[in-house]
Amino acid sequence: MQTTPVIQQYLDIKANHQDSLLFFRMGDFYELFFSDAEIASDALNIILTKRGQHKGKDIPMCGVPFHSAESYIKKLLDENIKVAICEQLETPQEAKKRGYKAIVKRDVVRIITPGTKLEESFLIQKENNILMAIFFFDNVWSSCWIDISTGLFKSSITDESQLLSIIDQISPNETISYKNSKELNTLTLSPINVTWLEKKKDFSRDTLIDFLSPFFDPGCLQKLNTSLLGSICLIVEYLQKNKNLFLEHYNIPEQIELSHIMSIDPSTRKNLEINSSLDGEKNLSLLGVVDKTCSLPGSRLLKRRLNAPSTQKDQILKWQRKVTEFYYNFQTTEQIRTLIGKFPDTERALSRLIRLGPNPKDLLSIKKGFSIFFKLKEEIKLFKENSISLEKVSEDKIKNVLDELVLAIEEEPPLTTKEGGFIKENFSDQLHKIKLIEKKANSNLLELQKIYSEKTGIKSLKLKYNNVLGYFFEAPISHKNKLLEDNEFFHRQTTANTIRIKSISLDQLEKTALNARNDALELEIKILEELHKKVLNISKDILFLSRKVSSLDVCSTLGYIAKLYGWCCPLVDDSKDFIVKDGRHSVIEKTISNKSLNSFVPNDCSLSSNEHLWLITGPNMAGKSTFLRQNAHIIILAQIGSYVPAKKAKIGIANKLFSRIGASDNISKGQSTFMVEMLETSNIIKNANEKSFVILDEIGRGTSTFDGLAIAWAIIERLLRNNKSRTLFATHYHELTELENENSKIRNVSCEIKEWKDEIIYSYKVIDGKSKGSLGIKVAELAGFPKDVTKHANALLRKFQEKEGNSSVVLEEDLEKEGLLKIKGDLESIDLDTITPLDALNILFRLKNDI
Ligand code: ADP
Ligand code: MG
Repeated sequence: MQTTPVIQQYLDIKANHQDSLLFFRMGDFYELFFSDAEIASDALNIILTKRGQHKGKDIPMCGVPFHSAESYIKKLLDENIKVAICEQLETPQEAKKRGYKAIVKRDVVRIITPGTKLEESFLIQKENNILMAIFFFDNVWSSCWIDISTGLFKSSITDESQLLSIIDQISPNETISYKNSKELNTLTLSPINVTWLEKKKDFSRDTLIDFLSPFFDPGCLQKLNTSLLGSICLIVEYLQKNKNLFLEHYNIPEQIELSHIMSIDPSTRKNLEINSSLDGEKNLSLLGVVDKTCSLPGSRLLKRRLNAPSTQKDQILKWQRKVTEFYYNFQTTEQIRTLIGKFPDTERALSRLIRLGPNPKDLLSIKKGFSIFFKLKEEIKLFKENSISLEKVSEDKIKNVLDELVLAIEEEPPLTTKEGGFIKENFSDQLHKIKLIEKKANSNLLELQKIYSEKTGIKSLKLKYNNVLGYFFEAPISHKNKLLEDNEFFHRQTTANTIRIKSISLDQLEKTALNARNDALELEIKILEELHKKVLNISKDILFLSRKVSSLDVCSTLGYIAKLYGWCCPLVDDSKDFIVKDGRHSVIEKTISNKSLNSFVPNDCSLSSNEHLWLITGPNMAGKSTFLRQNAHIIILAQIGSYVPAKKAKIGIANKLFSRIGASDNISKGQSTFMVEMLETSNIIKNANEKSFVILDEIGRGTSTFDGLAIAWAIIERLLRNNKSRTLFATHYHELTELENENSKIRNVSCEIKEWKDEIIYSYKVIDGKSKGSLGIKVAELAGFPKDVTKHANALLRKFQEKEGNSSVVLEEDLEKEGLLKIKGDLESIDLDTITPLDALNILFRLKNDI
């Protein structure tokens, strides 16, 4: 059997879209064929049927209704499946005009991928949706990321170790890269999913600049390094391929200087529960506590900022001054927050207008956004630090468009533009006139119904409308004869219970009414399109305005929560101090107070270059991990310009934050807990420096006691001597407390517990000195161990402790001394009078190896 023309058309289009499911529009449905149908029916749980044959085999098919397609597409995107939307580009009537057998023209109008979503229902409101491109050239990694739903567009240049950290910080929804061997090798090892693109054949700096010049200022492009041009090119190519370009609304991506951002490696971000708790709860994270923002753009900005604290004193202090202004003007802050609460998601409204065309709802959002902006500006005009003025030209342009939108757009426009009614009647004289005609015709129609009803004596005679008959009168079937006898009426249709008639007067009125309605709709759409154009003309000003309001939202929120939670303004400087008085863990404090348990016990912490490592001992559940994390949170908060949960704090800016906490499993990736622990710790030892902040929680507990102790010991010495980072080190190994005697930069502290009548009482107070013991057996008792088992354990413990008393610990320094002594011995044993040159060389070689 021959392939039908429609299937042939399908196959031709599908050939260019192999990596997406093709949603092929057929009337009121999107239909999927062949393997696409099989994948979709499985993923969407819809019935797989067949339609016709191809090459002697049934063609599998499934379909979804056009009007509810969004929910199906969302499901596919959530499973990382791309969708190509293929529309009918003409009506069947238009096709017929080209010839009896012509089929409707179709083509792909847009490809929706996880990184290029725009529809409200596809996106997470409080999160950016990011497409990231990664490129390696000339020994430099570059990345470029865009959120086409908000207009965010940034880039950075990194080395390999920073690359994974920046990917983790940005957490892209989709990552693209060229199929080059370096990228393939590096990125396939990382946890991200990459879409691979074929590299351009004629790749060179010049071809990149030529390719990008139509979209960006060529002068700016010339200043960028070639690797960066490559990743921008990737983004542009991909958007072009997906028919999502519209880059005229963008400037060249802002380049992020990585040294200006506190580096937080992926496991630290996870361990510190910055965006969600370890069990995935967003509320029980640091973000959950601070995100009291009132607008969606504000919420997204806060998340970005919390994930990229600054290392630049000027920047941090500038943010801090803004927050402080709100802190001290609490009443205004509350009023401003109420206003910001009404600020719509202008960023996303604008993106939809740019990429999906005019619609009344998003224009209304833009209008509301403008008017809130001017109200906010007025409200804080006396504030010094938080001015949100734009340049005068921009504000004038915005005001003009605002005036027009106020006059034009209905306050509650219908959801679709099908029926009209979204433009205010009085906006245009012409529209007003047409609407009058329409109204008059409508009232005449009702009048006619009254006249006919009186004339025929049929009270139930009704004026009705449908797409086939247009206007008609309808009466119960019992009046059939009476109506047909009257010459004025002519019969149109009989249904089971009714008769439908028309008349010449009705025809005339109908014509007037329908013409007026069509004219009005046409005019409304024309007006909408003009407004849309005006809004797009100032797209960059709108984005700027949204950013001002988001930033205001973030700063006022930080001022607000500082007051609400009783936080203090930290003194931030470039020193190596970390001094906190009465610090708290904001999340645990909240959970404790929610459960109305005892209140949280605040604790001090004091690190400086003189004493930069605290060793924290104490039994299980005494509060060690909490203390570690709260201090890491404090440093993050301080560096986003926020107040911190403490009475007083002095924070020397940290360039990198590291942590190794607990024993989170990573078995799914085939690495044992201990291996993960060692990998992460080795990363810390290699990268932390004297400006860094490190927290290590029970390192070494994944292996045998002595192994673990030895490793922990060696790590501490390394941190003390080489890295010199400010470090909080919680441990079970009491032996480590001896290190305090060897090195003045380390201090022993412990989480206090009291024993009372055989019970342990946790006071959660971090006090000076080492803890008395780990009390593991006491904890076991508390957990209900049988008495004889704990008794046995106690006896064993005493035995172990006696044995251990004999063993002495080896210091790193001792090892070094030992090595030197050996070399000395070796040298002394050489007889210089008899040795051959070859032997001498060999000895030299061995000595070098021994070092
Ligand atoms: P550890 O690491 O020593 O085993 P955690 O830090 O995990 O102990 O703390 C255990 C529990 O003790 C926490 O979940 C919290 O409920 C409580 N806790 C810890 N620190 C405090 C504190 N400072 N004030 C009040 N409760 C605390
Ligand atoms: Mg712990």
